[in-house]
Amino acid sequence: MKISNEQLALVNGRIKALLYADNFYGKKLKAASISEVNSADEFETLPFSEKADLRDAYPLGLMTAPEEEIVRIHSSSGTTGKPVIIPYTAKDVDDWAIMFKRCYEIAGITNKDRIQITPGYGLWTAGIGFQNGAEKLGAMVIPMGPGNTEKQLQMMQDMESTVLCSTSSYALLLSEEIEKRQLKDKIRLKKGVIGSERWSDKMRDTISNSLGISLYDIYGLTEIYGPGIGISCDENKGMHYFDDYLYIEIIDPKTLKPVPDGEMGEIVITTLVKEGAPLIRYRTHDLSRIIPGECPCGCKYPRLDTIMGRTDDMMKIKGVNVFPSQIEEILQKFDEVSSEYQIRISHLDGKDTMRIYVETNGTVDFMDLSKRIAEKVKSAIGFTPLVKVVEEGVLPRSEKKTKRVIDERYD
Ligand code: ZN
Repeated sequence: MKISNEQLALVNGRIKALLYADNFYGKKLKAASISEVNSADEFETLPFSEKADLRDAYPLGLMTAPEEEIVRIHSSSGTTGKPVIIPYTAKDVDDWAIMFKRCYEIAGITNKDRIQITPGYGLWTAGIGFQNGAEKLGAMVIPMGPGNTEKQLQMMQDMESTVLCSTSSYALLLSEEIEKRQLKDKIRLKKGVIGSERWSDKMRDTISNSLGISLYDIYGLTEIYGPGIGISCDENKGMHYFDDYLYIEIIDPKTLKPVPDGEMGEIVITTLVKEGAPLIRYRTHDLSRIIPGECPCGCKYPRLDTIMGRTDDMMKIKGVNVFPSQIEEILQKFDEVSSEYQIRISHLDGKDTMRIYVETNGTVDFMDLSKRIAEKVKSAIGFTPLVKVVEEGVLPRSEKKTKRVIDERYD
């Protein structure tokens, strides 16, 4: 989706502010002699922003509005190197709550709902984002924060919570506890709003069936407000995001050129109205695609597909970008195969080959299964892999994360 003229006008407002603040991006603009952009083509000449730029700006180098207008900071976790500090103005905080309120509305949540919030509060953007949006909506917030399952379940019953906000793993844990303690009759949950970690359809079905609730994926990252910049709807085909606050492009992470709608690539986000720390063409390294066309749900906001992984996972095979999650998704649809699989890529006689190893039990016709899987994979990625079916238990297992993709081309 090319940037619109309305969006361009907003970008130019941010360019002005960044030049004035003379921070890392202001300096990039100066170096490129850019003071405004007047077409989609010109927009695509703007330099990218990277996580490393944000880290280098530690502590407050991203601050773009005057200090007296900054009301809060948030920080992304510093597991790899220095953390990133994002300053917010009062308007940024309010804009974020407006987007989050829309997310709840898309999920069919109203001011009559009682929203139990289990993500963490503090420097992290999670808990407080869920809370501000819920208050904007006028719903009743039960601000639990993480952990203490005993208390969570007690409050869930006593407050008659109707909405659970959590990570997918915590939602699974709670659903198992509710089943174990036979509390299902005492629980009033109807919906779950689940944070953006990647989770399988199998896990989604388990949680949804066990609790009898509808689930919605929420998207967001600390650098761009936080969670609540997009959410899936009842159609469950991608997440709507708010193009009056954000411009989203999908780029090929190798060539850095935007790809057409519908094609997979890296999500790059430009904040259109953010004041405290505006970001232009921020590379998220998250992989997804823009879903073309309007959603059957009737909501007019454009859609991003479910996040398919990180750019680091991407493999280029026979000139096609392939992501392990695409293969995994296909394999999950075959009930005959176990959850273990292995992908091996090699370069033989001048061409790339992909072999997929899957496991099944002795009751299945190996040849037939291999043919059916190869066909499905071909229709998803465009070329036919070699599918090798083996006995259950043959593929290596490990306590830690099993290495499932082996690229022999670079050994
Ligand atoms: Zn929709």
